[in-house]
Amino acid sequence: MREPLLRQPRFEIGPEGWALGALAMPSLHFDLRPDPRDVSLIVVHNITLPPGRFGTGCVERFFTGRLGLDEDPSFESLRGLRVASHFFIERSGLVIQFLSCAVRGWHAGRSSFEGRPRCNDFSVGIELEGTDFEPFEDIQYESLAAVMEALARRYPIRAAAGHSDIAPGRKTDPGPYFDWSRVMTRGLLERGVAFPFAAGAGKAPGAGAAARAPLTSAGEGRPS
Ligand SMILES: [Zn+2]
Repeated sequence: MREPLLRQPRFEIGPEGWALGALAMPSLHFDLRPDPRDVSLIVVHNITLPPGRFGTGCVERFFTGRLGLDEDPSFESLRGLRVASHFFIERSGLVIQFLSCAVRGWHAGRSSFEGRPRCNDFSVGIELEGTDFEPFEDIQYESLAAVMEALARRYPIRAAAGHSDIAPGRKTDPGPYFDWSRVMTRGLLERGVAFPFAAGAGKAPGAGAAARAPLTSAGEGRPS
């Protein structure tokens, strides 16, 4: 695993949708947005591969189509899946970008936000390296907030939601340890970014969802 970053990079999304300050690791797991101007939702996820293990590099290889399915027995369930979020934030705080924000990533699957289906069409997906069962690192929240602010400066971002909020009953990430209050910065609030699912977030995690949760959010595949 990488050492934590000493200093938080500042992020700036360029006109082509790539972030200055992030490590680019381009993936082909995308297609075009129906309306390229509509980049209005941020979807936060968690992921680890193999489930529960940090710093393996497997998420990066999975999202770029280079994961060997024989690397771990649990990967058999990933066969045939083509998945990528736009961003992945490692435990060290390092931000890796797989897709330009201008294109449609395959991260949310069947989903809806405020009655609107197919969130991949109009969202940016950000995966935190983590699980439903333990806290995220402080530096991950710092990186996430900084990326979200950069997105809000470039795109008409209206809201941020968790994967479980837009695919309830099907997805549990980013999980009960995810604390929205850690990313509700003044910069985002002043730009009118809403956090409709933040109420009650950050409470001490109970049993409930986490206890029944699948271990990974990896199985998303491409949109229908
Ligand atoms: Zn997810």
